[in-house]
Amino acid sequence: MVNQDPTNPSHSLFDQFVQTQTCKEVQRTFSELCHHLELDPRDYQSFYTKLKERLNYWKAKALWIKLDKRAQHQDYQQGKVCAKTKCLVLGAGPCGLRTAIELALLGAQVVVLEKRDSFSRNNVLHLWPYTICDLRGLAAKKFYGKFCTGALDHISIRQLQLILLKVSLLLGVEVNTGVEFKGFVEPSEATDCMCFSSICMSFSPGFRWKELRGKLAIGITCNFINHHSAAEAQVAEISGVARIYNQKFFQDLLTEEGIDLENIVYYKDATHYFVMTAKKKSLLKMGVIKQDFSDANQLLGQANVDQDALLRYAHSAAHFSTGHRLPNMQFALNHAGQPDVAMFDFTCMHRAENASLVRERKGKKLLIGLVGDCLVEPFWPLGTGIARGFLAAFDTAWMVRSWGKGKPHLEVVAERESIYQLLSQTTPENISKNYSAFSIDPATRYQHVNLNSIKANQLQHLVPMCVHGPDSVGAFEELLKWCQQHTAGYDRVKVKDLTQSWRSGLALCALINTFRPHIIDMSSLKESDSVHNNQLAFSLLEEELGIPPIISASDMATKEQIDKLSMVLYLTQIHDAFNERTP
Ligand code: FAD
Repeated sequence: MVNQDPTNPSHSLFDQFVQTQTCKEVQRTFSELCHHLELDPRDYQSFYTKLKERLNYWKAKALWIKLDKRAQHQDYQQGKVCAKTKCLVLGAGPCGLRTAIELALLGAQVVVLEKRDSFSRNNVLHLWPYTICDLRGLAAKKFYGKFCTGALDHISIRQLQLILLKVSLLLGVEVNTGVEFKGFVEPSEATDCMCFSSICMSFSPGFRWKELRGKLAIGITCNFINHHSAAEAQVAEISGVARIYNQKFFQDLLTEEGIDLENIVYYKDATHYFVMTAKKKSLLKMGVIKQDFSDANQLLGQANVDQDALLRYAHSAAHFSTGHRLPNMQFALNHAGQPDVAMFDFTCMHRAENASLVRERKGKKLLIGLVGDCLVEPFWPLGTGIARGFLAAFDTAWMVRSWGKGKPHLEVVAERESIYQLLSQTTPENISKNYSAFSIDPATRYQHVNLNSIKANQLQHLVPMCVHGPDSVGAFEELLKWCQQHTAGYDRVKVKDLTQSWRSGLALCALINTFRPHIIDMSSLKESDSVHNNQLAFSLLEEELGIPPIISASDMATKEQIDKLSMVLYLTQIHDAFNERTP
């Protein structure tokens, strides 16, 4: 006996919500379902409970069993531990959404901002075994029946986003698409908040990134339409073949097609997806790259790539590596309606130096954390994007939990940074193997975790305003006064505030000159040469005091708005360093 009422519109709306395949439709069906059940999705604390009560439908119950199992984990303390916490997640990529789900389970009010209004990435992500187990626990199979059936260990980016979006909405997360994050606005009310960025680096002020430069590595991705024919089903996937393991294959590819690769991966999903690393010499020879440049940006810049030759190159590599057995190979189209083929530079990867920091305004704190690609850029052929991305999402949720429990802020950040030390070294081999026991508690996932490897006193620079006590308005005034005192009397320098007055770079140079009188010739500086002045000051401050710049010299000189909090952070570090080192 099932209690399905075929005439009940909420049942059919629920079915549509579960099955629908575009971001817009997910949002539409969800909003209609809420409307029909008279539920307010902003009532985040009781939304999920009320939804379960009002939607008395057997198909939904199977889903609730899965989600309840996760939600009842002791780490979340029945959603009470962060009940007073507000969280903003920037970016609805897989890692942003995965973070949002964990924060919602902790009981926080979670808002996600996503600049795109559709999920259109066909590219396919490799999943480590623990991520498959994790997604199964979130009922991925109920939303996408083909999820990792048999030996499959991959999923398209858009399909993964759809699953995570649906789970987020059911748990009371507010997801706003078509909304671009541009920067922080000073809060009008004094409440503690959190912000978690899974978007690009330029939007995460206050953080610094290390550049890891390897040997030149040019990645090519391409997608072909999957017609789902019997012939296509017969063609075997390539879960990763590298040159060192199959020299003959790569030699034949070079001899027959003129294509020289380091490795290639082929996955079958909604599309036939290939990712390969190609050698520069063969790209030049085949006319894909027009001219050789040592700078990777110039080398792979739009003007230097022959798009038609790139399509031919990708097509031939895909055709050859599948033994010419994929029939009717037509390129799938990307969001711009163009053949979905792209070339990327993996030579230079970035890794954030820190995973978190705290800012203060009006006596209240903003905890900021990085997750996903903007924390550690992944090398796609190894599938580290999702694997390390989800680990960071859990670690971030653990940090928020500690914050919610009232742990001192410096200790929260120190613990987060201690855990972050492990992330880049994590592999499918050295991660704990009891996947079903994984939770946001790092001890369930990392084999050797020391939550105190970084000490709070090493991280004062990440929690800058703590040193000034609770009254940040007073602290800003004090800082301004100190800057005015130590730049007074310099020609063309008048410090009136903590933003615009610093634009020309002269005030920064004056400040340096006060404490280190012989390293700048102030008379040689021109007010109009602001990029140069800023660059000079930034370099000297980094060399002399070890304080890295917060923005580029050209942004400082030309950007419409200089971020006040970033400047406060920067000037506070300068203040502290000069005061410490000046007898
Ligand atoms: P992303 O998935 O990049 O999500 C970030 C989100 O933030 C995006 O949805 C973006 O629209 C949004 N955003 C950006 N700026 C703003 C803003 N200012 N305001 C609001 N929202 C904003 N990995 C592989 O393993 N294989 C691949 O073939 C592969 N192909 C890729 C192709 C592309 C074009 C990209 C961008 C990434 C690709 N990746 C690939 C990486 C993989 O997608 C990520 O590792 C994975 O999606 C996890 O990333 P994330 O959630 O951290 O970031």
